[in-house]
Amino acid sequence: MTSEHRTDLQHFGLFLDGRQVEALSGRTFESHDPYAGTTWATVADGGPEDVDRAVASARAAFEGEWGRMSGFDRAAILRRVAEAITENAERLALLEVRDSGKLLREMRGQLQGLGTWYSYFSGLADKLEGRTVPQLAPQTYFGYTIKRPVGVVGAITPWNSPLLLLTFKLAPLLAAGNTCVVKPSEHAPASTVAFAEVLHEAGLPAGVLNVVTGSDRATGEALAAHRGVDKVAFTGSTATGTKVAQAAVANVNRVTLELGGKSPQVVFADADLDAAANGLVAGVFAATGQTCMAGSRLIVHEDVRDELVAKVVARAEAIQQGDPTAADTEMGPVANRPQYEKVLGYLQGARDEGWTIATGGAPNEELGGLFVRPTVVVAAHDATIAREEVFGPVLTAYTFRDEDEAIRLANDTPYGLAGAVWTKDVHRAHRMVAAIRAGTVWVNAYRVVAPNMPFGGFGLSGIGRENGSAAVEEYLETTSVYIELTGGTRDPFKLG
Ligand code: NDP
Repeated sequence: MTSEHRTDLQHFGLFLDGRQVEALSGRTFESHDPYAGTTWATVADGGPEDVDRAVASARAAFEGEWGRMSGFDRAAILRRVAEAITENAERLALLEVRDSGKLLREMRGQLQGLGTWYSYFSGLADKLEGRTVPQLAPQTYFGYTIKRPVGVVGAITPWNSPLLLLTFKLAPLLAAGNTCVVKPSEHAPASTVAFAEVLHEAGLPAGVLNVVTGSDRATGEALAAHRGVDKVAFTGSTATGTKVAQAAVANVNRVTLELGGKSPQVVFADADLDAAANGLVAGVFAATGQTCMAGSRLIVHEDVRDELVAKVVARAEAIQQGDPTAADTEMGPVANRPQYEKVLGYLQGARDEGWTIATGGAPNEELGGLFVRPTVVVAAHDATIAREEVFGPVLTAYTFRDEDEAIRLANDTPYGLAGAVWTKDVHRAHRMVAAIRAGTVWVNAYRVVAPNMPFGGFGLSGIGRENGSAAVEEYLETTSVYIELTGGTRDPFKLG
């Protein structure tokens, strides 16, 4: 929705070349607060012509001061960035709450921890080392490799945790010496603009990080397909990620995709069922279930199904829904109306297929707005709601009889982002970790991520890994160097 720039609301521009500017068209769009149900900000409505400006700014920065800077100096800037994020954590957290209805207490913790990513990757910025490579005929050539930044990275981010998911890309790409253009989701654009301003004020040179907000699909499409971009890093749905990758590959660009999931939580009969219930609640109801790593499939041993489901239902029914900024609220609204409609559609589908809704399954009528009750569905492994990513507060439970069946059911999905095993048997825990095809497997835990642990998925969950020291490699190219040692003339028609 576009509108005139309203003066009664907060306003966010594009962030180009170190400052906020308006879209070339002069258009703005509105950002909605999903809890209050009102418009709280207007945002510059950037189009493909603004993407061109942003890419030009990022290219100039890459070819300028930033591109020539040593890793030691980049590391120093990243350390200052880490401090600035912590200093601004409360303000940035509040912007995310206004845009997406996430809990303030969750976003406050997330923002306070976000600086760690920049300090972790600052430690790698001055260690981008090539190798000296022994040659086939050592007396003729000296061979070594050097690591170089890819160039301009286009980052396309979703509405759930915009700054965390941007940081998974930004911290390593800056450490590697790249520059960036970000296109945040139209549903949660504001925090990314404010964040870019914080980083710039902390010392990130103008043009290194640019933000193009936009309400039209054409803006993201223009960035994904831009010939001035060298790599595209995307987080979002598998359907959109596939289109983004196709556009990027048409330019023979590099791509990292962090996509959806339908992650299993496998609970054995010997597990601590209270701890498992807690992990299930954290895995699927935290952030109103709107996380790519949501543990949305409970695969439970048949002997303990009733006991465990009863525990989870009791916990779900006690969840306090309400104002995301209130200290005692545990679950906020769904982040936007299209997502709310999608979640309700899946719940209706589960009813139509005849599955049992153990609790929830409907909007929270007392609160109205975009609130959906935490839901537990008891179904079979082939139920639609057990197979497709709902991206909402919905857990689907079904049973297994033995370990082989547990493995088969856990892996019976085109996704492979995450999973968990709940058992006290250390031997079985290791067997299950090796058997579950997922980028992250927790044992007796759920929903832990860290800057130094790789994150990403198998299958439809994506391509590449974010986080962990190897994430820097995703933003580097390698050049092989041969230095002729003999000083003689070689046969021009002979290779090597
Ligand atoms: P999308 O995957 O469609 O959007 C992610 C980002 O891509 C947004 O910035 C979006 O912009 C942008 N985008 C959309 N279409 C294109 C395109 N053709 N080319 C380039 N960029 C594009 O997620 P949605 O917000 O539409 O949510 C749809 C579903 O995706 C959800 O219901 C949920 O199931 C899943 N999802 C998964 C996430 C995850 O982390 N795995 C995160 C978010 C959603 P804009 O928002 O302006 O359209």
